[in-house]
Amino acid sequence: MVEFAEPKGEKKPEEHSSGNTSPSDADDVNRKPNRKPRHKKRKSENANGTVVDDKDHHASSSKRRNSLSQAARDPRDEPEAEGKKKKRRKRSKDGSKDVEEVPFTRSPTPVIDFDGLSRPTVGTRQRLEESEEDAAKRLEKMRGAVRTILECVGEDPDREGVLATPKRYAEALLYFTKGYQENIKDIVNNAIFHEGHNEMVIVKDIEIFSMCEHHMVPFTGKMHIGYIPNNNVIGISKLPRIAEMFSRRLQVQERLTREVANAIMEVLQPQGVGVVMESSHLCMVMRGVQKTTASTITSCVLGCFENREKTRNEFLSLINLNR
Ligand SMILES: [Zn+2]
Repeated sequence: MVEFAEPKGEKKPEEHSSGNTSPSDADDVNRKPNRKPRHKKRKSENANGTVVDDKDHHASSSKRRNSLSQAARDPRDEPEAEGKKKKRRKRSKDGSKDVEEVPFTRSPTPVIDFDGLSRPTVGTRQRLEESEEDAAKRLEKMRGAVRTILECVGEDPDREGVLATPKRYAEALLYFTKGYQENIKDIVNNAIFHEGHNEMVIVKDIEIFSMCEHHMVPFTGKMHIGYIPNNNVIGISKLPRIAEMFSRRLQVQERLTREVANAIMEVLQPQGVGVVMESSHLCMVMRGVQKTTASTITSCVLGCFENREKTRNEFLSLINLNR
């Protein structure tokens, strides 16, 4: 579904990124709290909501500036060390160039790797490149692990009803995590068109099925993606497919939201991107605090969505989050 921008009067959407987060249980304390809306006056808090010392303030605020283009808590996605950066700048000054050197193995943002994979690990590449024989071995190993789990929960793994469960579960889990292997270049497949269109495009209510990386149980919900083209538009079905690529893996909702936004920013280079996701986490619903009606909302706004309050508000009212 495509919606075009139209003037929206003075209607002011409510808070979009922090309001509906429900209390989380002890296991989830290391999850990053949602950001405050950007148009609110900033206090002396950093992005994690903790008060920072004055002497650290500069460092942490520069970290916060980068936080939108970096993934959460994954050391592989940390911005490169200050020292390294400085060295690069020095070298380029010597070469009478004022431009920062771009590392050739990675794209400028850490979301998409040089070959189109996102956040790949050793395991990702093994899984991607394995032979049929290796794939069979992998499945067998997983079957053994699930059989062990069945034993440990007090089941009889040889009971007829659960006899094939290890195999079924292993295959299901591989499906739930198929996003690791997906390649954004294959997904986009050159479906970027020069249309000279510069009005907001929104695809909303994209169904998301992902897995919480802390408990390996599902979280499900809806994602809304909007962007303002820079003359180029992307095939509209590609946005849900990008969301699918990042959701079919072990995730935290905050990172999922940000990765989708960053990936679109990177492949399409629009004027700006906004991604909002609302979802329900089974690890919260079925265990822990057991808040069955709680929904968690996260958002990531980049480019003109970040810089212009009017654009952001237009996006939020078009996705009608405050219904
Ligand atoms: Zn969880």
